[in-house]
Amino acid sequence: MSSSLLLRGGTIVTMNTKREVLKGGVLVKDGVITALGDVTEESLGPVERVIDVGGYYVLPGFVQTHVHLCQTLFRGQVEHVGLGKWLEQIWSLEAAHDPRSMYCSAMLGCCELLKSGTTCILDMGSVHHEDQVFEALSESGMRAYAGKAMMDRGDSVPSGLKESTRQSVEETLSLVSRWHGANGGRVHYAPAPRFMESCSEELLRIVSEKAHELQLLVHTHASETEDELSDCETAHGMSPVAFLHSVGLTGKHVVLAHCVHLKPQDFRILSETQTKVAHCPSSNLKLSSGIADVGRLLRSGVRVSLGCDGAPCNNNLDMICEMRQAALLQRYLNTDEFPWAQTFLEAATLGGAEALGLSSMIGSIELNKRADIIALDMSRAHTFCGETGEPSARIVFSAKGSDVKLVIVDGEVLVENGALTRLDEKEIVAKSSEELKKLVARSD
Ligand SMILES: [Zn+2]
Repeated sequence: MSSSLLLRGGTIVTMNTKREVLKGGVLVKDGVITALGDVTEESLGPVERVIDVGGYYVLPGFVQTHVHLCQTLFRGQVEHVGLGKWLEQIWSLEAAHDPRSMYCSAMLGCCELLKSGTTCILDMGSVHHEDQVFEALSESGMRAYAGKAMMDRGDSVPSGLKESTRQSVEETLSLVSRWHGANGGRVHYAPAPRFMESCSEELLRIVSEKAHELQLLVHTHASETEDELSDCETAHGMSPVAFLHSVGLTGKHVVLAHCVHLKPQDFRILSETQTKVAHCPSSNLKLSSGIADVGRLLRSGVRVSLGCDGAPCNNNLDMICEMRQAALLQRYLNTDEFPWAQTFLEAATLGGAEALGLSSMIGSIELNKRADIIALDMSRAHTFCGETGEPSARIVFSAKGSDVKLVIVDGEVLVENGALTRLDEKEIVAKSSEELKKLVARSD
């Protein structure tokens, strides 16, 4: 049975190659954008459903390329410390997850992400209970690439998260067979070796081989802190990016989160191999890791996208906040007249889609693309700019996640009038509270 939906009377920030901003509507048929701009009910004939978006900006949904849904439950549990101590405490909480708390954590994250306009994520799970992350993602209706964290080494890893190289690989492959391309193609599997300090060289080489063999995206952390850089130089005589390159984990199918502390040759490696960088400015500031030089990455030809990272190191999953943070930091670091608001709006939409290999399908509002679309109410006092304000600056510097009123994934309305259609936010928050109490008791 075919379905049709018309978004009527908005301002469409298309993010197409000409970056056109159009007045008018968007027609979606069976999940695909089939007309836009000058389309009305009169010109189209019967349409199953019409949603008025007058006074709204209509945008492609945000794509976040570095998230940890497994940690959403832990927001506010570990504060005032740098990455090393933070990670030790987060690992002990992750080790205390059971299937129910993991499912709740992922659902809580999906609620927040969808309500603030994120329609697609690249997620790194914990070592166990990854099926529950995929179940939550599937139930939420989001588009996602996700994978369990792989970690077969490290002295400070709690016993609950320890796994052998073989176990790690076997579990990953079995999850690939269950979830890659599931939920009507909305969810996919992306292997996620956690980072070089918690992965053996053997594990990283196997992940590289399997990713090539099965054509999978790989997601890992790299060069997040100065300590990681110096540990890697001591252990391997090279930077984390150079080390990952040496074991085959660079390429256009690889997404590296952070890349804060880079050596000059790292910029060349990332650019030549077309490896993607997920920039996470709020997390990098909150954990005192540093500020990535996005200006230099872009000048080197590296493709950059954005991610909020985990809820306990941000402490929110709101992409509009993250674009603002990113743009303000680069305005400070790069004092030229570069259009940072536009750059990060691109990173948050097209850049994310490209990082996941989905740019022919999502990332902009164009004919024949899948309908992953959001609409922001721009009629409120805090976004007022008359008729002349530049859309990217209005969105990045003035808007908030709570201005997102409509969210559509694959043609399906998942948020309407600012409320979730599939998920019960109140119930999820109440369950999360119960699950967190039980989890903390288990971890003591
Ligand atoms: Zn992370």
